[in-house]
Amino acid sequence: MKQEFDVIVIGAGVVGMATALTLIEQGHRVTVVDASAKPGMGTSHANGAQLCYAYTDALASPSTLRQLPGLMFASDSAFRLHPSLDPDFLRWGIAFLRECRASRFLSNTLEGLELAVESRKALDRLSAHFKLAFDQGMPGKLHIYRSAEGFVAASKIAAVKRDFGIEQHAVDSTGAVAIEPMLAPVGNDIAGALYTPREEVGDPHLFCTSAGQALLASGRGRAMFSTEVIAISAGQQPAIETLCGKQLSADRLVLCAGTGSPRLARLLGVRIPIQPMKGYSITAQPGAAAPSVCVTDVANRIVFARLGDRMRIAGLAELGNRDRAVDPARIDLLIATARAALPEAADYNAIDLRWAGLRPMSPNSLPVIRSIAQGVIANTAHGSLGWTYAAGSAERAARLLAETFPASRKTRSATELATQSA
Ligand SMILES: Cc1cc2nc3c(=O)[nH]c(=O)nc-3n(C[C@H](O)[C@H](O)[C@H](O)COP(=O)(O)OP(=O)(O)OC[C@H]3O[C@@H](n4cnc5c(N)ncnc54)[C@H](O)[C@@H]3O)c2cc1C
Repeated sequence: MKQEFDVIVIGAGVVGMATALTLIEQGHRVTVVDASAKPGMGTSHANGAQLCYAYTDALASPSTLRQLPGLMFASDSAFRLHPSLDPDFLRWGIAFLRECRASRFLSNTLEGLELAVESRKALDRLSAHFKLAFDQGMPGKLHIYRSAEGFVAASKIAAVKRDFGIEQHAVDSTGAVAIEPMLAPVGNDIAGALYTPREEVGDPHLFCTSAGQALLASGRGRAMFSTEVIAISAGQQPAIETLCGKQLSADRLVLCAGTGSPRLARLLGVRIPIQPMKGYSITAQPGAAAPSVCVTDVANRIVFARLGDRMRIAGLAELGNRDRAVDPARIDLLIATARAALPEAADYNAIDLRWAGLRPMSPNSLPVIRSIAQGVIANTAHGSLGWTYAAGSAERAARLLAETFPASRKTRSATELATQSA
């Protein structure tokens, strides 16, 4: 017999909304609860928009380890550290350092790849089932490398990924310009590039909005916005308490609160290792030489993507920075870096949106999808690839939810099966 649950999903970002729709598709009833006034107002609001189904390289790597001493003191670089003596930061840092070994980097990257492959199928299925609209496209992607060393290292990983069926080609600067002619002015600076023709883009905020509408239209979902969860409890009927004093229980609770997840998990005595890694984006009108293909300038940690008739440019990484405010100096750095990398990609004088968000980073760059207490499942810590991983993670969380249904229901269903077969 198919089980139907009442499920509370905490968080209406890409992960929470994908989880909610997946559960509805499977016949469950879902209540989404979020502190913001609308879906997709957290880290999912204006990220780089990349659905990176092939480029799942973990942050912890021998190369990152080599750069760390310099980053400790760099105040003006694209990647910087905000070290602290907070025990959670130190614990996370030690776990991160362990993940920097070459063998860990490779296995984390390949595990990410497996999830990304699942995600591509899952997002297409959700999108078709619920008729979601989020400026999805498949422009392909070029990762450009300005140093021969970086290009050689990346080409080796691409070769490993090809064994997993990923189509990714290493090209020289002429090849890169042939694929994206708008790179011609910077062609001489390119040591090499990786081209992934089937990489996609999509607007995460539009996805959350469209998913919110589908949730309500399904007749099996409801949403509570401007509702902060301040307490959760586990058990046969896990429950939440909100800031305005409301209590709500269900058969299952799924925690998809991004960087807010560790605080809620702590209430159950569970540690989820997440550190925020702040990043920035601008959204502007396309410039005279705006690329059609997505471009990531690896050395400058910046990504360019066309989203409908807009240009999204995202980058910068500040590990340990919890401040969500948009720092004008960092936005200026992002714009200066973008101008230097692709001078006419966007109209840098007509910027519609300046934004900052906190990537919920785990030490190994892989999400935490597991049962953390009776009736409570975590689906969080998606780091730099939460948009890419959202739909596949939602499927995994839904599978976990089905596997952990209450013992009383399991017995009843087993009894029914026994009666049927007699
Ligand atoms: C600059 C930048 C660029 C990025 N580019 C990409 C990219 O190109 N591709 C990609 O795949 N990923 C990208 N990412 C990463 C991606 O954006 C994140 O991994 C993803 O948005 C995380 O989604 P989430 O749903 O877990 O978190 P969120 O979107 O932050 O959602 C969590 C929600 O939980 C709510 N919440 C938290 N605590 C509570 C509480 N106590 N009570 C009620 N509600 C609560 C919040 O209000 C929020 O709405 C980028 C991130 C940044 C910062």
